[in-house]
Amino acid sequence: MTAGIEMRSTSAKSDGVFTTRLFRAGETVLVGVIEKRLSKNHSHASQVGENEYVLHTGLTSKFNHSCNPNCGIRLNATGAHDFIAIRDIRMGDEATFDYAMRNYSVDYFPPACKCGAKGCRGHITGWKDLPENRKVDYAGYVAPYLLEMDVKLQRRSRNKDGQEISSMTVC
Ligand SMILES: [Zn+2]
Repeated sequence: MTAGIEMRSTSAKSDGVFTTRLFRAGETVLVGVIEKRLSKNHSHASQVGENEYVLHTGLTSKFNHSCNPNCGIRLNATGAHDFIAIRDIRMGDEATFDYAMRNYSVDYFPPACKCGAKGCRGHITGWKDLPENRKVDYAGYVAPYLLEMDVKLQRRSRNKDGQEISSMTVC
C-alpha cells in the first residue's frame, strides 16, 4: 500500500518519501513487503534478526533517516517492517524513521548525519549505540529483535554477581 506517500528528490539529501495527505499518529504509512532474504547486510537491507537481512519492495528503502523521526517500525504478520506514524505527519512532510529502530549496527552510511533535526546525534548510529533515553522514547516502534539482542548481550557480559566482566574472560 503506497497510497498517501510518494518519492521526491530533495536538495540536501538523495531521494526521500513524502506524504500526499495527513497521517494521524498510529496510522500505517507503509505496509512492508519482503522481496527477498539476504545472507548479509547491504546498504538497502533491513535487518530483521541478529544475522538476518531482507530487502523490501517499493518505497521502504527510500525512507531517509532522521534523529527525530515521525515514523517507527512495526513487524507485520509476514515478518516485514511496516512504517507507523509516531506523531501526526502533515501533508507534504517527509516521512522519516531512525535507522537505529531497524539496524543493530550501521555499517553502510557516512559517519556524519545530515538529518537537520533538533537533537541530531551528529552521526547515524545503530541500536547498539543509541542513547538509553531514545530507546525509551522509541518503545513500541522498533524491530522486536533489537530488544532480544539487548537482553542476550546483557546476559553475555555479566557474570553471576551481575558485574561487568572483561571481554578477555568470556568463556
Ligand atoms: Zn541526525
